[in-house]
Amino acid sequence: MTSPFGPAALPYGVFSPAGEAPRVGVRLGDTVVDLAATLGGDVFARPSLNAFMATGHAEWVRTRRRVTDLVSGDIPDEAVHALSDVTLHLPIEVGDYVDFYASEHHATNVGRLFRPGSDPLTPNWKHLPIGYHGRAGTVVVSGTDVVRPSGQRRPPGADAPTFGPSVRLDIEAEVGFVVGTGSALGAPVPVTEFATRVFGVVLLNDWSARDLQAWEYVPLGPFLGKSFATSISAWVLPLLALDAARVPTPVQDPEPLPYLRETDPWGLDLDISVTWNGQEVSRPPYRTMYWSPAQMLAHLTVNGASTRTGDLFASGTVSGPEKDQRGAFLELTWGGEEPIVVAGEERTFLRDGDEVVLTATAPGPDGTRVGLGEVRGRVRPAR
Ligand code: MN
Repeated sequence: MTSPFGPAALPYGVFSPAGEAPRVGVRLGDTVVDLAATLGGDVFARPSLNAFMATGHAEWVRTRRRVTDLVSGDIPDEAVHALSDVTLHLPIEVGDYVDFYASEHHATNVGRLFRPGSDPLTPNWKHLPIGYHGRAGTVVVSGTDVVRPSGQRRPPGADAPTFGPSVRLDIEAEVGFVVGTGSALGAPVPVTEFATRVFGVVLLNDWSARDLQAWEYVPLGPFLGKSFATSISAWVLPLLALDAARVPTPVQDPEPLPYLRETDPWGLDLDISVTWNGQEVSRPPYRTMYWSPAQMLAHLTVNGASTRTGDLFASGTVSGPEKDQRGAFLELTWGGEEPIVVAGEERTFLRDGDEVVLTATAPGPDGTRVGLGEVRGRVRPAR
């Protein structure tokens, strides 16, 4: 099988060879090509993609053409580094971070688990993409260890909370969208501007402490159960590499309000894989997501909130209709009631030392596959 990181993908990232300054490169197979050394200019000799992203859509198109030409010819040896010889850094300087809840299957499962006996979907769910503002400063790059969070939880049947390390540490397999060019305060971004404002996508793991979350989330939503760490891939795959991956969203009924209407709402045909201690436990399909990424951006700005280069908004947990397509262990093990076998052991939530890896591919041109960068993280004991 050919690499999903061939010339049809060319995701951007920030790397540094030992002892050298971080700069922008593109991934080609198991190598990284130094764009500061090959393309020159002002925007690549920098420790994040933000300056390049801020140049705007026309420049993204032009640069992708130059990079495609570059990798199809002879690249100077000194500009090519083995991935194993470099350090990969957080690729973007994250502005604001928003996490949505756009999977109907995930929202339905969580509704059943957190609010048994009531409608699994809240009355607003099919009228707006539900989201919350997260913590941009704790977005970390793939490979960063995650320290088990401590906090308050109320054990089942107890009257009062206790404090200590989370005992229900979980993952959420998600896709993140990176804003390339921002929008002014007071100016909503229409659905039609998505593809020129959003630069690209990352894979994202929204680590979640379910016991902290269950106790704190009423009435204002997620807080400390989510804000301790959010991991993203070191590579940002440009939307320009995902033309062949566009698929219609599921039918939206009832019809959304006018500002959320698209002629043909589209999502992405990404196949995600969740690996837990080396064993694949789930394959969430992004194509089943109810709300489109353009609707998410339109909704998060419809009140006039501005956006900036580097803003990140995530899809929410990607879960398909089948049990082995669920993107969180909460759902896979049905709240811990139905353990799954991982590497020969019955498991529910994460133990110290566990490692989770998310990978994903999508259709590329001419029957090829294009890859998103992996998201890898290992759980370290609470401090
Ligand atoms: Mn989430």
